[in-house]
Amino acid sequence: MEFAWRLHDQYSFALRYVLLIEYTKSVMKKIYITRAIPQTGIDMLINKGYEVDVSAKDGVLSKSEFVAALLKKEYNAVLCLLTDTIDREVFDAAPHATIFANYAVGFNNIDSIEAKKRGITITNTPDVLTDTVAEHTFALLMAVALRIPEADRFTRRGEYEGWAPMLFLGTDISRKTLGILGAGRIGSRVARIGAKGYDMRVIYYDIKRNDIIEKESGAEFRENAEDVLKEADFVTVHVPLLDSTRHLINTERLAMMKPGAYLVNTSRGPVIDEVALVHALKTGVIKGAALDVFENEPKLALGLSECENVVITPHIASATEETRGAMAEIAATSIIDFLEGKKPKNIVT
Ligand code: NAD
Repeated sequence: MEFAWRLHDQYSFALRYVLLIEYTKSVMKKIYITRAIPQTGIDMLINKGYEVDVSAKDGVLSKSEFVAALLKKEYNAVLCLLTDTIDREVFDAAPHATIFANYAVGFNNIDSIEAKKRGITITNTPDVLTDTVAEHTFALLMAVALRIPEADRFTRRGEYEGWAPMLFLGTDISRKTLGILGAGRIGSRVARIGAKGYDMRVIYYDIKRNDIIEKESGAEFRENAEDVLKEADFVTVHVPLLDSTRHLINTERLAMMKPGAYLVNTSRGPVIDEVALVHALKTGVIKGAALDVFENEPKLALGLSECENVVITPHIASATEETRGAMAEIAATSIIDFLEGKKPKNIVT
């Protein structure tokens, strides 16, 4: 009899234990991360006691894979990347996710109008990547002007036969005119590198006049993009991708640039009509270009990779260990703040 009671006690204890675990799991906040990001951000979420699921795929989830993953659990938050299209279908698949933390400063991958309609909070990761992207921009500018990748390829091919007075003549950067299109955080930082580091004269166009860039870099405001394009020796683009900035640089605007000028883009690919750019590079309309972003990523416009006067990197302008770690922490902080009832710092909608 006593044995039966003990068995009963043990059984009910185990049952209560299982029920408690199931209950804890059901109230535990659930986060979905669409691709592995630096562990520091993931750990912040785990340490808060959240249930964190990271997509195991080493690549961008297709829409159907993404939707299927979201339907598996009642996720409260999603940490997504610029390569994820966040639209109605995704919002429908995650009806409990009231925050989408985008692991990027640009958020053109998100239907923010739809998010707003549904009361979904969208956050981004500004500031922590500004220096890194500005440094990459300047590295691209220098690489194309000084023909570094071209000379590197030549040397590796074993074609170097000794110093020559006309070998790989490049273009000076110091004291030239630097044209900034979009003088926000990154544009202003690039301007400062040019003005302080290379005594460049800076001109800029932005829909809003920016006192800081004028004070810090002596930048001169121009009333429109065309005036910057006509005057600059180096044009660098830092606008967000919006309907108003899609193909901001097109055939007509490329033709306004000086034939000796260079174009740099680390913003978003569709800001430049890439087919028009390839034509301009091949026909000497401009001297060169350096791009970190492409119109139809990861594809390149036909003929782009054959142009010797272009330097290309695979969308890595923010890719340093420090910055990618900081971006992961900011995205995690936004989710934690939101789930704890505080207002996240970097709300974009
Ligand atoms: P930001 O918002 O601080 O600056 C953008 C500036 O563009 C603002 O000053 C805005 O007024 C201006 N602008 C908007 N529309 C314009 C128009 N039609 N004409 C001229 N100016 C216009 O953003 P940020 O932090 O400097 O980042 C800029 C962009 O860089 C992001 O939106 C993102 O797409 C891109 N980015 C790319 C990478 C990368 O890895 N290559 C990394 C970070 C950011």
